[in-house]
Amino acid sequence: PTFEYIDINSMINEIILMYRDFLHQKNLELKFEKMFDKIDVKCDRSRIKQVLINLIKNAIEATNEKNYIYIKTGIENDYVYFQIENNGVPIPEEEQNKIFSPFFTTKVQGTGLGLPICKKIIEEEHKGKLYLVKSDEQSTIFRFELPLN
Ligand code: ADP
Ligand code: MG
Repeated sequence: PTFEYIDINSMINEIILMYRDFLHQKNLELKFEKMFDKIDVKCDRSRIKQVLINLIKNAIEATNEKNYIYIKTGIENDYVYFQIENNGVPIPEEEQNKIFSPFFTTKVQGTGLGLPICKKIIEEEHKGKLYLVKSDEQSTIFRFELPLN
């Protein structure tokens, strides 16, 4: 991997633009809350972009007409965090420990590779953490943290 300083907020904005039509079609509400205008993180641009795309795509796929997606970024202690929350159909409790395993999917056209790849990129390649914060009737929240150094 090639590490360089990337503003993850602008990367997220780019991806939101990419999915603009999907968001409109599904009539989804998308909120992006930034603690800072710009957050420069030392990371591999294309790999982190892939993580963001996978997580945002999963949220879009899990939501129905008029649901919401709520993205937050910020800095806490010595790491940068990215958090994505959506309402919609929750992940059943007995499946929550399987979603990071390769080939686990509940989608007709799914590969079940999105989350395991995200986990590898964040944890092995970037020494960060990626986890499911919670998934219940209210909402599903995924979060990753990248060390600031
Ligand atoms: P795929 O998207 O190809 O199914 P992933 O590894 O990205 O593979 O996700 C695995 C499974 O985790 C999905 O099939 C789905 O059941 C569940 N999942 C992931 N993200 C969400 C989400 N935001 N809300 C509900 N379920 C989710
Ligand atoms: Mg996926």
